[in-house]
Amino acid sequence: MALEERPVGKLDRAVIFLGPPGSGKGTQAKELARYYAVPHLSTGDMLREHVASATPLGCKAKPIMERGELVPDSLVLKMVAERIDRPDCFHGFVFDGFPRTVAQAKYLAELLKRQGFRQPFVIHMVIPTSVLMKRLTGRRSCKIGGEIYNIYERPPKLDGVCDNDGGELIQRPDDREEVVAPRLNAYEKQTAPLVQFYRRFGALHDVNANRKVEDVQREIFELVSGMRGR
Ligand SMILES: [Zn+2]
Repeated sequence: MALEERPVGKLDRAVIFLGPPGSGKGTQAKELARYYAVPHLSTGDMLREHVASATPLGCKAKPIMERGELVPDSLVLKMVAERIDRPDCFHGFVFDGFPRTVAQAKYLAELLKRQGFRQPFVIHMVIPTSVLMKRLTGRRSCKIGGEIYNIYERPPKLDGVCDNDGGELIQRPDDREEVVAPRLNAYEKQTAPLVQFYRRFGALHDVNANRKVEDVQREIFELVSGMRGR
């Protein structure tokens, strides 16, 4: 892609991605981090890392996670503070799935200030719920090879059958409408105050995520590199 041929500038700030499941947030966050050669930070990955290397934090979090409970804010925030203090974050970093609440956002603002960072640059992935429903409930995966299809956006040649190996295509329980709809509602409810919080600061940048991945990516790169807006 042409974007990769451009000389890499420095990010020198925190970029936060806000977006519902199915918005392509994770993919875009990873691509941006890769481009600027800064860490892509997800609290889920961080937690798993701490548990795997049995750090004091990991040992505290492990039983909580094993019970299937939510790790308390105090632990998550400590982990985030420790993580962005590492040298690889010196030229910025990309957050994916954090902050989730206004309280976390306020704490992050303090942390950033303490470390001499500017206020975060927030990418808000905007996409109609009806499109998300199709993206999520239309997902099917091959029982043999695990290939992912979408009955609306990327259907197999033959209904219910994998193009590659003829495996049966199944819908994961998590992708069923009864599960997806409440999950999207819960996300919306939880994130609305956060969106408002960042919008008030002028830190929020709406990106139409209902387009091809490459088009969304181009707009994000242009926004972050200051080629557009501001
Ligand atoms: Zn297959």
